[in-house]
Amino acid sequence: MGVLTGRTALVTGASRGIGRGIAERLGRDGARVAVHYGRNETAAKETVAAIERAGGSAFAVGVELGVPGDAEAMWEEFDQHADGLDILVNNAGIGNTRPIGQLDEGEFDKVFAVNVKAPFFILKHGMTRLRDGGRVVNISSGLARTAAMPDNVAYAMTKGALDVFSRDLSKVLGSRGITVNSVAPGIIDTDNTAALLRGSPDGWAKAAALSALGGVGEPAEVADVVAFLVSEAGRWVTGSWVDVTGGSLT
Ligand code: NDP
Repeated sequence: MGVLTGRTALVTGASRGIGRGIAERLGRDGARVAVHYGRNETAAKETVAAIERAGGSAFAVGVELGVPGDAEAMWEEFDQHADGLDILVNNAGIGNTRPIGQLDEGEFDKVFAVNVKAPFFILKHGMTRLRDGGRVVNISSGLARTAAMPDNVAYAMTKGALDVFSRDLSKVLGSRGITVNSVAPGIIDTDNTAALLRGSPDGWAKAAALSALGGVGEPAEVADVVAFLVSEAGRWVTGSWVDVTGGSLT
């Protein structure tokens, strides 16, 4: 029996990368996991299969985020599989590496729609489904607090907004015993960072040099921290910004 046995978790963007790592970890800890994905149904099914192979239980929920009505559509699909939830991990997100001068309104709106508006409305429409004593984790980024990196300005702004949401939401949901935290990864080896890490011969070494620990993170390293926060052991941590950058901000 795992520490999350009897709990239901929803992890957005769990078909690949960090979200998949979190979904697999929560599944191993005993939670029944809703594996949300946007477009990659095959990858989502692989995540579900991996959880089941490890003895866990999971189902896929496919809804594109960042479009009108996304959150309601996602909950509608979720409701067909489960009756309420205990753990919500807002992980789905997209990057943006355009300097201010080259960023157009469409790109700005898109990154805010996926990274900020979607988690906000997923919470708004999910609050009644979230059981008392539950957990919310928003996946932020070290870029929200690192020294300015202007080419990532719009993306960093979205994560700053998400952090304010985590902080304020912790006050809203605290009376119900629900904790809300931001978890901020540094550079993690996923599809999202493939160009940065593998696009040039020294990409990996440069990224590793940013971390005090001298490495590039893996999804499992973020998942382990999320697993702590959503467990009983994390019950007194709320409204926090948890640095999972391997010391990249020191
Ligand atoms: P990946 O690109 O590897 O995976 C992204 C996941 O989000 C996929 O499951 C994808 O689903 C889903 N997704 C993306 N856009 C949408 C959309 N519009 N609608 C629905 N689902 C969507 O990303 P990472 O694992 O690298 O990143 C996960 C989170 O971690 C993001 O919030 C990111 O900002 C954050 N982060 C990542 C860091 C890193 O170094 N990798 C560092 C700091 C923060 P599908 O493929 O099915 O469409």
